[in-house]
Amino acid sequence: MEEKKKDGGNLWNAVVQQVKMLLPTEIERNRMDRYFPLMHSPQLEDNRYVIEVGEQIQVEMFTNLYAQLILEALQACGQSVDEVRFVVAKDLVAQQQQPAKYNRSSFQSTPQRGVPSTMPMHENYTFENFVKGPSNSFAHAAATAVAKGPGRTSYNPLFIYGGTGLGKTHLMEAIGHYVLDRHPEMSVCYITSETFLNEYVNALQNDAMHAFRERYRKVDLLLLDDVQFIAGKQQIQEEFFNTFNSLLGLRKQVVMTSDVAPKDLKGCEERLTGRFQQGMVVEIESPSYETRLAILKSKAIAGHHLIPDEILKFIAENIRSHVRAIEGALNRVVTFVDLNGDIPLTLDIAQHLLKDSIEEEKTIKDLTVDEIMRTVALAYGVKMEDILSKERTQTLVTPRQVAMFLSCKLTTRSLVEIGRSFGKTHATVYHGAQTIQKRIDVESELRKTVENITSQLGRNPSELTK
Ligand code: ADP
Ligand code: MG
Repeated sequence: MEEKKKDGGNLWNAVVQQVKMLLPTEIERNRMDRYFPLMHSPQLEDNRYVIEVGEQIQVEMFTNLYAQLILEALQACGQSVDEVRFVVAKDLVAQQQQPAKYNRSSFQSTPQRGVPSTMPMHENYTFENFVKGPSNSFAHAAATAVAKGPGRTSYNPLFIYGGTGLGKTHLMEAIGHYVLDRHPEMSVCYITSETFLNEYVNALQNDAMHAFRERYRKVDLLLLDDVQFIAGKQQIQEEFFNTFNSLLGLRKQVVMTSDVAPKDLKGCEERLTGRFQQGMVVEIESPSYETRLAILKSKAIAGHHLIPDEILKFIAENIRSHVRAIEGALNRVVTFVDLNGDIPLTLDIAQHLLKDSIEEEKTIKDLTVDEIMRTVALAYGVKMEDILSKERTQTLVTPRQVAMFLSCKLTTRSLVEIGRSFGKTHATVYHGAQTIQKRIDVESELRKTVENITSQLGRNPSELTK
């Protein structure tokens, strides 16, 4: 008889974290967030890791997408496993055919007749779980207004943009949940632009464009995620424009997200970007320290994790780029606590656990040589062109060398790369940086100037002494 060992969840959590790290793009990580909740009861049976799902199609899809990755993740967690297998579980079949409370009528993997298929939304992406702060208060206010009166505000379409992992999908799905909770009769469609595009292509190939159009016209609230995906695809824009216009004409609500503002959508026709801007365009920015800490506290409480305050503060201070990275850091700490219940979590341990993420943060936040030159030029009241010129008067040599010095200290670029940006050799950059290094040791005025510029660049002057 095979030995069956139920995975208590700790290993699975660790696997999920590992897989996430193995995925190279945001789109893939987003997709994973949608699919992994459909996997259940992972079990180790001898050297085989078996995961239950609700439908045969999921077996095929997940085997293609994730079996190899999960295998690698398990091996990275020190498990001797040589196969990952997905199986259909009978009880899950029944369960998944029952639409969950929040998704009601319009929220099934097999679409109702005449209504477009909608993708599963994250159950916890609700307004209640969304932490408000200065970086997202505008977007939050607009989203709330739309949720309370879909199609009845002037915020149509509502266009939410901002960098990845800042909460766009969360806010968009919160609108979906809110509307479905209060108006189960309404047809809500959440779909990524990638899937929308695939459906469109399928309809084209199967001569089913009429049905495609009709289906989307029946939607009351269309949540279209990551529209930057559509931007480069000329062919679909025409159809998208038509679908979009007919929905707005029928006073249906449309909400879109994108990683850039409408005007910066590359490869997007102007009449389309113009249309996107006719409703309300809101940006989500990177959260402040206080918001980051508030998000961490709320996530820790929601997951019933007891993490000391000083650790949460440490994460909030060091992981600044986006909320997904902050969550990743929290998860890593939580996984440690789960797996090592008897070892108290100290700041030292947290520092060690988060070493890689903190390193990664540094490269994400890496300054460009261009930014440095611009800021230096501004501080000295000279032009960028002057910094780049061959002019050797002292009024230009100092700012030029300061820019070289800061580029060496604050970026991860090589001397050769920096030289290229200045139109100079690496030896010139080295000499320039050395000169400033020597001068700031004795000239306190120059040191202050350089430190001020460093702060203006959003960096800590203590980095200059490293
Ligand atoms: P985006 O779509 O902008 O890439 P997501 O909406 O997927 O980002 O958010 C990434 C993660 O961060 C999600 O798990 C989300 O719940 C969380 N998150 C982002 N902003 C907030 C916030 N203000 N409050 C709570 N969680 C947030
Ligand atoms: Mg998203």
